[in-house]
Amino acid sequence: MTILSAKLQAVRARIARAAGQCGRAVDTIQLLAVSKTWPAMQVRELAAAGQRAFGESYVREGIEKITELRALQLEWHFIGVLQTNKTRAVAEAFDWVHSVDRLEIAQRLSEQRPASLPPLSVCLQVNVSGEASKGGVSLAAAPALAQALTALPKLRLRGLMAIPAPSDDFVEQCRPFRLLRELSERLQANGLLLDTLSMGMSHDLEAAIAEGSTLVRIGTAIFGERNRA
Ligand SMILES: *Cc1c(COP(=O)(O)O)cnc(C)c1O
Repeated sequence: MTILSAKLQAVRARIARAAGQCGRAVDTIQLLAVSKTWPAMQVRELAAAGQRAFGESYVREGIEKITELRALQLEWHFIGVLQTNKTRAVAEAFDWVHSVDRLEIAQRLSEQRPASLPPLSVCLQVNVSGEASKGGVSLAAAPALAQALTALPKLRLRGLMAIPAPSDDFVEQCRPFRLLRELSERLQANGLLLDTLSMGMSHDLEAAIAEGSTLVRIGTAIFGERNRA
């Protein structure tokens, strides 16, 4: 077993323990390995250990890896800040986008998604901590934007995503995740079909799972510390 695959197993064990502690089935929680800043070689190693879904934050870097590793048929998730001039490249290369927070971006992704590909799976990114500097639509504006996304033919709205302000305290970590889950429940009560709550990173995956996460995005706990954020 390589060091990387041992770390992957350790993260899987953490997810299983967290699921067990709140009585959830482990197979309701997907692990997204966040490979940003790490070379294709590392992705290849994790793929050999059974990891299929990878997350990238930088468009050009992500597309280089997707191109190089095409034969492995992995699932690629874009999780970074998305600028309008990069939407076409993302719509053509990725399977998922977690960071949709404006109608204009969503419209471009839908228009630019190639007809030969299935609709792009997207999450609406919500600013649950209310920090002015952070990306994401406000909790108040999220329902209308979610509804608008469902009308776009080449997008499939899968759920919600959040990156809360970091905290070392479990109870503090839970609070924003609970807000996201409650928003998701309200949207589902209004008739939206959502199956994804993209929440939880290396330092707070236990809190996210306790609050209903269906997809945790894990970089550092698998790959180690990044040199750039
Ligand atoms: C980098 C990143 C992650 C992974 O964070 P770690 O703390 O390294 O696990 C998850 N989600 C997003 C949106 C990121 O940009």
